[in-house]
Amino acid sequence: MGSRLAKETWEAALGVLQVQVSKQNYRTWFEKTVGLSFFDNQFVVGVPNTFIAEYLDRKQRSLIEKTLIGLTAGDIQVVFQVDNSQQNSLGSHSIQEETITTTQTSHSMFNSKYTFSSFIVSNCNRLAHAAALGIAEKPGQSHNPLFIYGGVGLGKTHLLHAIGHIALAKHIKVLYVSAERFTNEFITALYERKTAEFHKKYRGVDMLLIDDIQFISGKEQTEESFFHTFNELHNTNRQIAIASDLPPQSLPSLQNRLRSRFEGGLIVAIQPPDFETRLAILRAKAEQQAVEIPVAALEVIAQRGKQNIRQLEGLLNRVIAYTKLVRALITPELAAKAIEDIASNASGNAGITPSVVIEVVASSFHLTAANLKARKKNKDIALARQVAMYLIRQETSCSLAQIGDELGGRDHSTVIHACKKIDSEINDSPYLRRKIANMQNIISSRKTAVD
Ligand code: ADP
Ligand code: MG
Repeated sequence: MGSRLAKETWEAALGVLQVQVSKQNYRTWFEKTVGLSFFDNQFVVGVPNTFIAEYLDRKQRSLIEKTLIGLTAGDIQVVFQVDNSQQNSLGSHSIQEETITTTQTSHSMFNSKYTFSSFIVSNCNRLAHAAALGIAEKPGQSHNPLFIYGGVGLGKTHLLHAIGHIALAKHIKVLYVSAERFTNEFITALYERKTAEFHKKYRGVDMLLIDDIQFISGKEQTEESFFHTFNELHNTNRQIAIASDLPPQSLPSLQNRLRSRFEGGLIVAIQPPDFETRLAILRAKAEQQAVEIPVAALEVIAQRGKQNIRQLEGLLNRVIAYTKLVRALITPELAAKAIEDIASNASGNAGITPSVVIEVVASSFHLTAANLKARKKNKDIALARQVAMYLIRQETSCSLAQIGDELGGRDHSTVIHACKKIDSEINDSPYLRRKIANMQNIISSRKTAVD
């Protein structure tokens, strides 16, 4: 049968796919899939409905096959099969559920994994966590609205759901909605002349959790409707919590009156985790899954898992699944291999060499590649060199030793030091962050040129 193998291999594949497709895409098409069987080069993936089967078959087949081949090193043909047995036991985000009204799904409106107890608190999110807990415990009495903002994959949705779980437990009438869904429902209501019902639904709750608010910015009519909903809830001390990828003042084309409403509450940021935090998160996640991983292996993952907790989780799952597949203990080498094998097979980073990175970094610091490779200790050159080490680590699958060699024969501890230092400086300096993002863009445009 090989179904356990299928299950584990597919979990590893999902770990890879998760970082390759957009979050929305992943949720819609991949989240509820399972590996059913793997036999004679045929890999059967169970999906919740024919709609998803057709989509995956038409649009994602080659990416999926490439990923599976990368993991199993064999030739594979993938088949998508509707698998109803999975429907009840899996996550909460299918297309079908999207259309069911919220009252019916209120118990499953919240992801059971996104709770306060599974949320790891560190300096990057301490304030957001405390504020979220505060409004969950005393809704409408402290900060209203609570506005949480931060980059992708940093735990905003997790916190909104955590608030929701507590509210449900306290029998508070709570509604969680993404701004996108709010918009779609509003448009449908307009079209079907059911705006009264729409208003009743949103204005009748005691707590409204609205996610990814940036989505409504610039959509005038929806903003208008949300403004009135907001006022009605706010005037009667009902709690509102909002998540956004940008702070209110940076949301492009948001109406000023809505902006000032948001600014009237508490605004908290979630920062990307630094190296130490990433390590702490990985440790906790490994513990949750009851897998023992040596710290040195976790460090390898923390080094690679840039600035986003979702990605970090994806890498960890990938490493765990990989080591289960090869039935070996997790060592730093194996962790690096699990990550790098897949990176070189599937992420399309082929073509990026250390010298491309060095050249790009040198030119954006107005230096030459030779400057970076020399042993000089001039301060400006040192920074550029550290950025180069950091970016080679991010963009290629070179080992620490190789990176040291490329940059004037430095040893691997120097490279680790550089990566950690840049990592933490990126957190502190928006200027450096932008500069590095720019370099990454240039580097990836080189990649396409090479392909
Ligand atoms: P966002 O909404 O900010 O894009 P999510 O809330 O969807 O991010 O988080 C992405 C993933 O990372 C989720 O699986 C979430 O559980 C996890 N995550 C984020 N922050 C933390 C944290 N502090 N502790 C534990 N898991 C976290
Ligand atoms: Mg989110």
